Amino acid sequence: MDIRQEIEELRSLLNRYNHLYYVENSPEVSDFEFDTLLRRLQDLEAEHPEYYDANSPTMRVGSDLTSEFQTVRHAFPMLSLSNTYSQEELGEWIDRVEREVEHAEYVCELKFDGTAISLTYENGRLLRAVTRGDGEQGDDVTANVRTIGSVPLVLSGEGYPDYFEIRGEILMPYASFERLNAEREANDEQPFANPRNAAAGTLKQQQSQVVAKRGLDCTLYQLAGKTLPYDNHWQNLQAARSWGFKISDKARICHSREEIFDFINYWDSERKTLPFPTDGIVIKVNDDASRRTLGFTAKSPRWAVAYKFKAEQALTRLLKVTYQVGRTGAITPVANLESVLLAGTVVKRATLHNADQIEALDLREGDMVYVEKGGEIIPKIVEVELSQRPADSTPLQYITHCPECGAELVRYEGEAKHYCPNASHCRPQIIGRIIHFIRRKAMNIEGLGEETIELLFDNSLVSNIADLYDLKAHQIAVLPRLGDKSAENIMQSIAASRSVPLHRVIFALGIRFVGETTAKYLASHFKSLDALMTASREELLQTEEVGEKIADAIAEYFADEQNIAIIERLRYAGLQFVAEQREQASDMLAGMNIVISGSFADHSRDELKALIEAHGGKNQSAVASNTTYLLAGEKIGPAKLQKATKLGVKIISEQEFISLIGGEHTTLPQPTATEKPEPKDTTPVQGSLF
Ligand code: NAD
Repeated sequence: MDIRQEIEELRSLLNRYNHLYYVENSPEVSDFEFDTLLRRLQDLEAEHPEYYDANSPTMRVGSDLTSEFQTVRHAFPMLSLSNTYSQEELGEWIDRVEREVEHAEYVCELKFDGTAISLTYENGRLLRAVTRGDGEQGDDVTANVRTIGSVPLVLSGEGYPDYFEIRGEILMPYASFERLNAEREANDEQPFANPRNAAAGTLKQQQSQVVAKRGLDCTLYQLAGKTLPYDNHWQNLQAARSWGFKISDKARICHSREEIFDFINYWDSERKTLPFPTDGIVIKVNDDASRRTLGFTAKSPRWAVAYKFKAEQALTRLLKVTYQVGRTGAITPVANLESVLLAGTVVKRATLHNADQIEALDLREGDMVYVEKGGEIIPKIVEVELSQRPADSTPLQYITHCPECGAELVRYEGEAKHYCPNASHCRPQIIGRIIHFIRRKAMNIEGLGEETIELLFDNSLVSNIADLYDLKAHQIAVLPRLGDKSAENIMQSIAASRSVPLHRVIFALGIRFVGETTAKYLASHFKSLDALMTASREELLQTEEVGEKIADAIAEYFADEQNIAIIERLRYAGLQFVAEQREQASDMLAGMNIVISGSFADHSRDELKALIEAHGGKNQSAVASNTTYLLAGEKIGPAKLQKATKLGVKIISEQEFISLIGGEHTTLPQPTATEKPEPKDTTPVQGSLF
């Protein structure tokens, strides 16, 4: 691969990982893997300045901005920290500091593993709380932050400036995390991968009452303002503690590299006893004058560095390997372990991915193994402790037949996994396909969890996705734990799924390798399911992101007569087989944020949403102070109405909206002016922030 291509591929991969991490809060890779790729990109860019790009992920902080909150410009940019996993590199950083600063004094702090927050106080009262966003501007999450008990709404003590900012981390302690995930699993919701994602996801909740229940915590570590009491970080932090802020009592002043390394080595093991997650140590130069001397890069201060701990490992025994069958028939071996505490949570299982991995690890039942948590929820086995292998152990025999239906397993060319080919009669595959179909990101059929699908299947009511559309309320109502009300909700949700757009229908079909993104490309390329079904292999390959493997899987799916029969029934049921018209109709709504609530006489909500986008507007899910209009139908949500009235947001009817985009004319109320971002403050700041 040539250098330019590698750089571009790394940039696009890292941008995707940033999005998954900061916006979706569901990372696919570990921080170590992310940082290794980022480092590779940094090195390539340094060697090849001709490929400079100001938008590269090496030059910008990963953005958490969403359209759901009002955007606020930071008075001083909120940057990232340069990081290292190596003590040698940390030593080089100290050398650099000491070349520029005499008698440097350092503050070593725990690196809390949550999400960054900036709090502004005016006359001792919390004015606003803003996320880091893209570093220049962030999401205003004040209402949510107000619910966190450790954030003082009114300051105590004396000597705080009239107006100042304090930055820190919103955290989810392990105890809250365990409780939240247990609740989510009980409700058939996807558990959060780790406490950091849970904290970041919770902070972006639309309902503050939900935030209040989730047990978030907030630790502050940096003051900023024009009139801070001291000219160094340490003393300012002590002052902030006296005003009521939660400031960690674990930080230390260090004067030498030995003291810094002692601090790191101590916390590398001791952090396991803390009730909240940490992922390293931050080393900061203490006084403002030295910070000014050292300055900043585009993305981080030169006067601070994060030393990151490698993911925690634990040693435990592999009791047994069991095998799960997924909806596509893919077999996933699972390691069942003797319970062990790892990164604050009890681990009992680890993923093994496939037979090759088991072989590469030379894994045997009864072995003592090292487990590690990466970016995913389920930890993985990284190594076998051969010195503790039982004398009578024998190599693991990978299964040859499906553990569920007994069919002989197959292994497709070039694929690491084994598959059960018995798609139409293997229970977990049938149920898995239906569960995939109803998922929020697919057809979004609410009220039907895994257990209900199993019930429907076991009672011979549903044995494929098309059967869902033949269900009758009375058939559901008589099932255990259901009833008239649940049955009615399920029926409504099934009916509503008929307007789910084509790309989600394609995703919902569960074609092998066709994820959400590929489904979007397919829908916009082919514009209808019929065109996709009859597409030749060559035509499929012309679609963005579709390579040979995906093209073959699509062709195979549509070559199956049973699948075609199901698709014909879905067509009959009224699902969307044609793509929405996405062309830009006008820019009449450009710059406007519109919230839809209630039901409407002439259009479905999805149609209205599509119209808003087609005319250049943005759909907002909640009323905020930058909402231009609340488009109100019948049975509008009282909370939305109340909020709109309180914020002075104009409320318009369906007819008024239609006239706004050039339909029949009626007079429209003028929108309230949207708030202007605060001008950027250029006066030098005390506390030299990031
Ligand atoms: P970072 O998390 O490495 O460091 C900066 C952040 O540290 C600050 O914004 C602050 O929130 C936090 N922090 C915690 N304790 C602190 C303290 N005592 N003092 C100062 N700051 C403190 O950097 P980042 O820019 O937030 O995130 C980038 C990192 O996130 C990457 O290096 C990677 O490790 C991880 N990441 C992972 C993925 C993934 O897919 N796994 C994707 C994107 C980013």
